[in-house]
Parts: sequence; C-alpha cells; structure tokens
Amino acid sequence: MLQTEPIGSIPRTPELIAAMQAHAMGQLSYEKLQAAQLAAVRDTIARLEETGSPVISDGEQTKPSFATYPLNGLKNLAPEGIVIPFADGHTRQLPKLTSGPFRYGLHAGSFLKTAQNYARRPLKQAVISASALSLLYPSDSLPDYSQEEFLRDLKDEAERDIRECLQARAACVQIDFTEARLALKLDPSGELLDRFVQLNNSILERFLPDERRKIAVHACPGGDQDSTHSADVDYTKLLPLLFRLDVGRFYIQLASEADRPRVLDAVRRLLKRGQMLFVGVVDPINPAIETAKVVCDRVLEAAKFIALDQLGTTDDCGFSPFADDSSTTRETAFAKIKSRVEGTEMASRILAV
Ligand SMILES: [Zn+2]
Repeated sequence: MLQTEPIGSIPRTPELIAAMQAHAMGQLSYEKLQAAQLAAVRDTIARLEETGSPVISDGEQTKPSFATYPLNGLKNLAPEGIVIPFADGHTRQLPKLTSGPFRYGLHAGSFLKTAQNYARRPLKQAVISASALSLLYPSDSLPDYSQEEFLRDLKDEAERDIRECLQARAACVQIDFTEARLALKLDPSGELLDRFVQLNNSILERFLPDERRKIAVHACPGGDQDSTHSADVDYTKLLPLLFRLDVGRFYIQLASEADRPRVLDAVRRLLKRGQMLFVGVVDPINPAIETAKVVCDRVLEAAKFIALDQLGTTDDCGFSPFADDSSTTRETAFAKIKSRVEGTEMASRILAV
C-alpha cells in the first residue's frame, strides 16, 4: 500500500484546554496540568491508531504551538517580535530575543519519548525549522550577542533537536517550514526564502545521507483558525526553492490547491530519485469531511505525475498548530484522517501497489 502519514497536530482535548487555562490563571497546579497532558496524549494516540493510520504522532497535545516549544521557560525573550498576518485579519506574534546565548528550553525528542510510552505504531516527530526561529533575533541587533553568534547557537540547537529524534527511533523527523511560502509573500524577490533554505541546508549537511532519508520538510500556506497566511502566493514559485532542501521526504499541502495538476507537474520535475513526496489529500481548513472516494480520486490524480514508489499521502497541514485553536473539532480531525487512510487504501488497490 502507498504510505500515508499525518502532518502533526490534532485539536487539544476540551479537558486539556480547560486545564491549560486554569494553570495559566494560577488555579491549577503544574502536576495536575501534567496529568491532563498525559491523558490527552494517551487518548489522542489511541484515537489515531483507531483511524488505521500506519504512522502516527502525539498530536502535539503538549506543544504550545508547532513553532514555540523551544522557547519553553526562556527568560531572555520579550513579547513584541515579528507579526504574522492571516487572510481573515487575525495575527500571531513571535517573541523577540533580548540577550544571548540562545538555547532551546525544550527539545522535540522529549515529546517523542513520552508518546512512545503509549503508541503501538511507529511515531513521526515534527520539529520547527531553524529558519522560523531565526526570526527571533531583533532587527536592531543585540549589543553583546551578534546575529552571527546567534545563528551559530541556533544551528547547534536545531541539529540537536533533529538528532535526538533520530536517536529515539522516530519513523521520520519532519521540519515544519510553514514560513517558506510566507517568505515569498514578504519578499517576492525570493532572497529571504533563499536565505531560509541555505540556513536549513547548513544544518541538514551535518547529517549522513542515511539520516537525511528520514528527515522531511512540510510546507503549506499556514493553517490557523481556519485561515491561511500565504495561500495567495503562487505555489510554483515556491517549489523550486523548497526542493533545494537536502531532505529525503517532502510533505506538501495540495488538497486545497485550486489547480492541483499544475502543482503536480511542477513537483514532478523537481523530485529527485530516492526522494518521497507525500501529497495532502485532506484539507484541515475546510470543515467538510472528505469521503474516501474523494481522497482516492486525489491519489489517482497524483499518480499520473509521480512514480508510485515515491508517492505517499498526508494531511494538508496540522489540524491545530496552535494549542488554543479550536476552530476544528477533534471529531472532524479524526474523521478526515480516517478518510485519508481509507481513500489511500482504495487507490492503492486500483493502482495495485
Ligand atoms: Zn502546515
């Protein structure tokens, strides 16, 4: 059968969201919050396994967001960093660094190890890209900590983040590179995106070819509160730069694209031998649940462009990349994932994979 994997996040359980709010207001102890987190991880893994997905994740239940887990507990941050505007008018803001040195407060391997206590199926682990975290450095540089020193520390930390997941036997380590398409929106010349790709490649080159085969990248137009930040940027302008990343696996949003054959044709020319392409076949932003037949048709469409031994399926994006985003219910997320698995199986039978 064709491979099929999630991107990562699942909406948090109502109990966990309530516990997070109570803890933030000082009304719930850290121990009780931890208990609620573990219960959510256990329930999410059990429900992901019920969907039949051969590879699962912890649903990012305990991450504050896909991008900010390394900032856990850091004291050298101020709130007013880069603002990311979404199409519906809402924004998300990153903090900014106030002093060096920069060290991750939490590494992704810790999420993987917790999930392994509960999972019976292989687990993948998402990590945030170094390029996203490079945005923490303030535009007016820091007096005792140059941008060069910051980038050196960032690269070491990003490498450790990936390496610990590989050492803990992750099925795959997926670098979330949602800011790729956004970078083209902010700088249509492509210079910013080129810098992002170079930074991420400078970390990837620290890994052996065998390790890089298990390292992946996910790109999308962002997905928060059922809105996107860069869907208006022409996908085919992003792809040539994205595919310069020296990874073994690409997980790309596709279900929500208006002209999928055009994107698939562009990807077909860029995908190298030995690389895997996972195409998005369900859309977390759209509340309508795709049927298995719709998913099957999308796989058959992709199979016209991509060799079957290089093709897999995925979700277009995480279902809830930020912990407080409850625009999609857990039930909807699991139903869409079940359709992804069933539709991929259906297509695999037709394609005789
Ligand atoms: Zn995404």
